[in-house]
Amino acid sequence: MSENKPKIVVLGAGYAGMMTTKRLLQQFAPEEAEITLINKHNYHYQTTWLHEVAAGTIDVNRSRIMISDVINPKRVHLIYDTVKKINKADKTVQLENGKVDYDYLVVGLGFEKATFGIKGMEEHAFSIQSVDKSRLIRDHIEYQFARYRNEANPDSSMLTIIVGGAGFTGIEFLGELAERIPVLCKKYDIPRRDVRIIDIEAMETILPGFDEELLNYAKDSLEARGIEFKLGTMIKEVKADSVIVGEDNEEIKAGTIVWTGGVQANRIIGESGFELTKGKVNVDATLRAPGDEEVYMLGDCAWVMNNETGKPYPPTAQIAIQEADVCAHNIKTSIFGGTLQEFSFDDKGTVASLGGSDAMGTVFDGNKLYGLSASVMKNVIDDRYLFLLGGPMLVLRKGKFRPF
Ligand code: FAD
Ligand code: NAD
Repeated sequence: MSENKPKIVVLGAGYAGMMTTKRLLQQFAPEEAEITLINKHNYHYQTTWLHEVAAGTIDVNRSRIMISDVINPKRVHLIYDTVKKINKADKTVQLENGKVDYDYLVVGLGFEKATFGIKGMEEHAFSIQSVDKSRLIRDHIEYQFARYRNEANPDSSMLTIIVGGAGFTGIEFLGELAERIPVLCKKYDIPRRDVRIIDIEAMETILPGFDEELLNYAKDSLEARGIEFKLGTMIKEVKADSVIVGEDNEEIKAGTIVWTGGVQANRIIGESGFELTKGKVNVDATLRAPGDEEVYMLGDCAWVMNNETGKPYPPTAQIAIQEADVCAHNIKTSIFGGTLQEFSFDDKGTVASLGGSDAMGTVFDGNKLYGLSASVMKNVIDDRYLFLLGGPMLVLRKGKFRPF
């Protein structure tokens, strides 16, 4: 690629990184810019399906898409390496195995679990944050079943699964566990009553701030399938085989502890000197990091302000995907001139799966959906993304509605 072309470097092949790369390819002719996409792996994964990978209700490979299958390697320089640091001063990115320089940088390095300094959380709790970490949860749970069968006097807590937090990640994971655990019980000849799945949530309700009717629907659906909730209960400490909770420091023993209590930007962002507010970067309306006009901060690394409420939008895949259009347009504008676009979120609603064919949520202008119709809508949303990314063939290969 020519030395004189502006160098646009995209970090992370998540929703933000993949869609921005696609949009950059539409904005720029090959001779106009050199585009590089850097990702840890040679695959992109569906973060929104990781709770299914973690429970073992879908195969790992279903959630993975080879990057070169959807991004043309003749147009984009694909580097499979781990980003270590962004050096803003000399406009370079330090990788595990090299260094690249940039004129424009798009940061889509995603989220990691926020532990809020809770003692033992980092060391002892699993988290649903990548393919590798999610399949570890799946394998750990199954290992506990196998162990239980092989010990003469097994401790019943071996089969207790604690989920910390009842936000959307926690609730969707519980829904998958409700489907998966009966299958494991059958496989290992273990009565379902021997297994406990306990969700511990600091607030008095699950899905704090969400529609009350819908969250009650979700809670009833999960409780009917054997999920226990301990609400208004803060996790204060995590040990190798227990959690300490609540005012009276109750200890609950468990063989598996999964933390879904919150997310923050990839730690590389803070370590590279970007100013963080509650774990993420407050970007301006054009999606640039304050003070760094050539750096676009997208997806779960950023807070984008909702001017109507005065609060940032909750970071979701939906927002990350929409940000790609504005980001690609603004990079083109910075190079060739014109007016920068401001991001405006088109909220298409929120739908959460509850396992099997159950789900609930709101769509478009607040219409509530429950059960099968919500589940179908969730699949439509997921498949729409696959269509945007790789057209009908990708939907046929990886989508939720597929003939084979
Ligand atoms: P990510 O999707 O996290 O992608 C980041 C990418 O960067 C990954 O490919 C990763 O491998 C790569 N990377 C990370 N570190 C490095 C490094 N050091 N070097 C190189 N590459 C690196 N949102 C919705 O809108 N709808 C949903 O239904 C929904 N369901 C969800 C279910 C679950 C279980 C979870 C956990 C989240 C869900 N979300 C949902 C939220 C949504 O997944 C995130 O908001 C979204 O993934 C953010 O996209 P992103 O591109 O910023 O980051
Ligand atoms: P979250 O921050 O939304 O929820 C975390 C939950 O953990 C909260 O309810 C919080 O009260 C609880 N918590 C925090 N500290 C605790 C403690 N010490 N003890 C007990 N409970 C504690 O995090 P999330 O669920 O991972 O969601 C992250 C983002 O991803 C959100 O923006 C969410 O909307 C999005 N998401 C969306 C979907 C969907 O649209 N279907 C699914 C998953 C995630």
